[in-house]
Amino acid sequence: MPICPPGSLTVDVALRVVLANAPLLEAEERAPFDAMGATLAEPVMAPHPHPPFAASIKDGYALRSIDGAGDFDVVDECRAGELPQVSLGERQAVYITTGAPLPPGADCVVQLESVELLEPAPAKRIRVRRAVSAGLEVRPPGFDIAEGSTLLRAGDVLGSAELGLLGYAGWPAVQVRRAARVAVLSTGDELLDPLAPAAHGAGLRGGCVFDSNRPALLAAVLAAGARPIDLGVARDGPAALDAALDAALGAHDADVLVCSGGVSMGDRDLVKPLLARRGATHFGKVWMKPGKPLTFATVPRATAAPGAPAGARAPLLVFGLPGNPVSAYVCFHLVVLPALRQMQGASSPGLRRVAATTVAPIQLDPERPEYHRATLVSGARGWEAHSTGGQISSRLLSCSGADALLELPPAAASLPAGTRVSALLIGDVRSGAGWRHDALPHPIDPLAADGAHAGGGGSGGFRLALVCGADAASSAAAERTSAWLTARLAPDCWQAVRLTLPAEAAADESVCAQALRPLLEGEGTCGLLLLFGATGPAGTGLAAATRALTSRAIPSLGSVLRAACLPHAPAAALLGASCDAALAGSSLLLSLPAAAAAAEAGLAALLPSLPHALAQAGAPGLLRLRSSLSLGR
Ligand code: AMP
Ligand code: MG
Repeated sequence: MPICPPGSLTVDVALRVVLANAPLLEAEERAPFDAMGATLAEPVMAPHPHPPFAASIKDGYALRSIDGAGDFDVVDECRAGELPQVSLGERQAVYITTGAPLPPGADCVVQLESVELLEPAPAKRIRVRRAVSAGLEVRPPGFDIAEGSTLLRAGDVLGSAELGLLGYAGWPAVQVRRAARVAVLSTGDELLDPLAPAAHGAGLRGGCVFDSNRPALLAAVLAAGARPIDLGVARDGPAALDAALDAALGAHDADVLVCSGGVSMGDRDLVKPLLARRGATHFGKVWMKPGKPLTFATVPRATAAPGAPAGARAPLLVFGLPGNPVSAYVCFHLVVLPALRQMQGASSPGLRRVAATTVAPIQLDPERPEYHRATLVSGARGWEAHSTGGQISSRLLSCSGADALLELPPAAASLPAGTRVSALLIGDVRSGAGWRHDALPHPIDPLAADGAHAGGGGSGGFRLALVCGADAASSAAAERTSAWLTARLAPDCWQAVRLTLPAEAAADESVCAQALRPLLEGEGTCGLLLLFGATGPAGTGLAAATRALTSRAIPSLGSVLRAACLPHAPAAALLGASCDAALAGSSLLLSLPAAAAAAEAGLAALLPSLPHALAQAGAPGLLRLRSSLSLGR
């Protein structure tokens, strides 16, 4: 494998040199909201415990666990924001709401759902069926956050959750590191300025190109939480470059100067000589592709800030990025960005590194380590790296949509598809271009099982009924749905019960209700009933029986079901809301059209939420999806 040639630095050594010269900027006080995106210069400790008092987790009744089950007198009410007025005695309870302080004497809360009101609300007497233990539904003082514990550390970047924590602590202002002032300069006789009003509509002149580095770098500086200063375009001449450097040091009082172009070997590449003349060059060649001529120097300030002793301010950091747009972009992220982060107080300034798997072969560079731009797509086994295409350093399109730089070693070889590589994050993967191809549409169920192991539900624990009329369409739909479910539900966690209603039952509500009852009661209770044909003319009896047995409609599931089913079976809409979801006791009833495609579309829409919905309803047994399904395969 090739090694770093003499005179060049490896990227990690170059980065270390830069960080050793990047000073920590001063702290300044800001109101929390104005500090969004900035880095904390001080830790924030919890000034009080949270909750400050023993607080109820539920709406219910506070009581003494020692009293056990039975009837209680309700002697007071205490809502969030109030202070308890009475101390609890034997077999006494206090009505309490979530977040309210527990009255003295009480050591637990029984939620409203588990309490029987012996009189209409506001009840003065309640019945608790089962004894509860001390501490039930109570957060003791400091349960979430202990007094004096660290809420935020110096070096933490303030985002929305951190602002919430400052609010929590009642912190009126915070010390954060000030933003770095970063001057950005493009150099080159051939450059036209797209940001200058004169350029608008003027088009390209012979031999010229538009300056794309400055807009990209100014934006990247802004995204780093620093303050960009636009120094425009300088011609390739010593006077213009000197003037730009003077402006960065003087009028703009910049901490950092990022210039692009003019660091290669040509006779008009004058940035390196300028830096050698005015400051100290730390390196001028890095073993990387793209970005080989990357240069870093420090330039002392001729005069210190007014009143400050000479030399008190750290020198200006100057980055000479290669002019090719991709080289400038990659060098900024690999070296300049970590420097800015360190100066602005970040505790870990480097780019985050994640593992990714290539999806197509990638040709390696035989001489230099390469930073290959890639879009990250979420795949079944984690991040997949999709190349952004042609990687020549002039093709800025390769940076658009790039979430990461793949760290590829030098070798006269090609990496096969499926190779695990490391990827340095340069984009915001939350909103990156890869989301369009993400292959993880549903949450992973970590308990889902594909094999004999049935998960927590026990073998065959969930009973599912396929109910259909005697008409051919309903039975065909039930048949197809059964196969469809087998492919999607974890094996061994469920068993199907088939009920075919006799032909004469179709229009008869009472016959249908009688046939359904054994599926809803006792040992034979099914957690899920799929009622085929209940939405069509052949199923009026089934529809009426379903309505009669329903204890509660579930409009949310019903509307999802209808939206998915009806494009495939529009006639099902004619019978009112009969294509619907409802509960009968703890069983979920889904009324489906007899058309198999429509039933499948409806079930497919509900499938990801079915296990949760059934558990919420209290359906007996646990229904689980296949793990391959939740992995999007
Ligand atoms: P240089 O590093 O100055 O030798 O430039 C290398 C290549 O990058 C040349 O093709 C330049 O025209 C191009 N280039 C330099 N600066 C910029 C810029 N700011 N925007 C777009 N292209 C540039
Ligand atoms: Mg040039």
